[in-house]
Amino acid sequence: MASEPSKYKSAVRTSRLGTPPDHRGRFAPSPTGPLHFGSLVAAVGSYLRARSLGGQWLVRIEDIDPPREVAGAAADQLETLRRFGMIADEPVIYQSRSARLHQAALEQLLRTGQAFECGCSRRDLPESGIYPGTCRNGIPPGRQARSVRLKVDDQAVEFEDAIQGPCRQNPAHQSGDFVVRRADGLMAYQLAVVVDDAASGINEVVRGADLIDSTGRQILVYQALGERPPGYAHLPIIVDENGRKLSKSDADDPVQARRPASTLRLALRALKHEPPDGCRSLEATWKWAIENFDIRQVPRDEVAIGVHPQ
Ligand code: GLU
Repeated sequence: MASEPSKYKSAVRTSRLGTPPDHRGRFAPSPTGPLHFGSLVAAVGSYLRARSLGGQWLVRIEDIDPPREVAGAAADQLETLRRFGMIADEPVIYQSRSARLHQAALEQLLRTGQAFECGCSRRDLPESGIYPGTCRNGIPPGRQARSVRLKVDDQAVEFEDAIQGPCRQNPAHQSGDFVVRRADGLMAYQLAVVVDDAASGINEVVRGADLIDSTGRQILVYQALGERPPGYAHLPIIVDENGRKLSKSDADDPVQARRPASTLRLALRALKHEPPDGCRSLEATWKWAIENFDIRQVPRDEVAIGVHPQ
């Protein structure tokens, strides 16, 4: 052991992630509409992972994008979680209240030269959406600072996803230097999510696979801030019978009006954890699911499910 100290250390680190009593997970909806079945599955997956490991489960309302926010949505989402029996272990966190932390992180990135001010508008960017580095070494004359971007090197970011397996992304080929503070002055999701997860001590992020493409960029933000990235587990995307992804903005299929026990059963079916027939009540269904949850059984690929059970 003593001859390989660094290997030993990293083995300890890896095995500690997601192992009781240290696991800290979260569900972090944006209040852009009522929870739909796909977001319910994300809530259920993150909740079961935490409960089955004897860990902590937090809820954070990601309310830092007022133009996209829908009045009353956060309260509706929390009420839906409550009706389904998912109660956070700590007071609900509102991301809008961490503005100081976001600002401090942004200033750190600028001060250390890992981020830069950018004067480009959308019109100035190529169709590929990949930032060509225009303002990396200073804003060209005649332009004003608009957004702030993180510098991205052409380098693969690798992570082991507990559901999707080994993943490799190269943010230089996905986005190039990416926005951490938007031109409208709001903090970008990629920065805020990292700052808040780090501040809450989240050590495993369990969320929908629609966000997996952001993971490489988020790992770069952790590294730039000198923080250790969490583990990741990306749950399958849920599509309807016609293969269409469910989305909050379509106000698709809100789950708030549904019967919790049968809807939870359907969410568990999507995660390949359908309880035996005898489990009917909400309590019995949760009990069975917590005792039997095994993340290795969760499917990787899109799950098509008839979302109207009754
Ligand atoms: N707020 C994001 C959403 O509702 C999810 C953030 C995350 O889980 O990383 O889509």
